[in-house]
Amino acid sequence: MEILNEDLLHYSEQHTTPESPLLKKINRDTYAKVLMPRMLSGHLQGRVLSMISKFTQPGLILEIGTYTGYSAICLAEGLRSDGTLITIDINEELEGRVRQYFEEAGLSSRIQYRIGDATKIISELAGPFDLVFIDADKENYSRYYDMVIDKVRLGGIILADNVLWSGKVLQSKQDKDTRAIVEFNKKIQQDIRVENVLLPIRDGILMIRKLSL
Ligand code: SAH
Ligand code: CA
Repeated sequence: MEILNEDLLHYSEQHTTPESPLLKKINRDTYAKVLMPRMLSGHLQGRVLSMISKFTQPGLILEIGTYTGYSAICLAEGLRSDGTLITIDINEELEGRVRQYFEEAGLSSRIQYRIGDATKIISELAGPFDLVFIDADKENYSRYYDMVIDKVRLGGIILADNVLWSGKVLQSKQDKDTRAIVEFNKKIQQDIRVENVLLPIRDGILMIRKLSL
């Protein structure tokens, strides 16, 4: 998952604002009690998401892929006081845990947590979104992008996570998920409606800004 060597990652974390006690607890609990804990954004990426959200000052955020709620809480830190974050996950087994974390964060009234298949739920949402975080099943990244792009405001930001896929994007023999990510990255690079930067942070974050024209 990590591109940076361990010592430089550690140094970067030591010079990054620490996680709040709640985020630290979610991080710890996820590693102790939940399957596939490496999916959690973690300290450094969480602070990056929070910082980007604070720059953007979003009124409406869409997150695709809640998992244990870590990244949702980070993104919500930048919400305007009247803002809302909608987060979608297909895994209903984590619902109780995640709702409790949102409650503890004091965010229950500002986060709409939707359980279900994002490919269905997104079509019910109107937008306009100021910030979108795509972080669910890799196979559907291009589909999610196509579903949200017209609902993102001009100048709005889409972030897509894991776009370096542990470096597998460079391998010649690619599995289904890798191919989907490679196709997605290519598609964004060719889309004249947006400008984009691939940030080589953690597992790669593609930062996409819809042009204001
Ligand atoms: N954003 C989280 C991690 C998300 S992990 C963080 O950074 O901490 C990816 C999540 O996507 C998993 O919880 C998985 O259940 C969810 N997911 C996978 N396919 C989905 C789908 N079709 N619709 C909605 N969620 C999906
Ligand atoms: Ca991720």
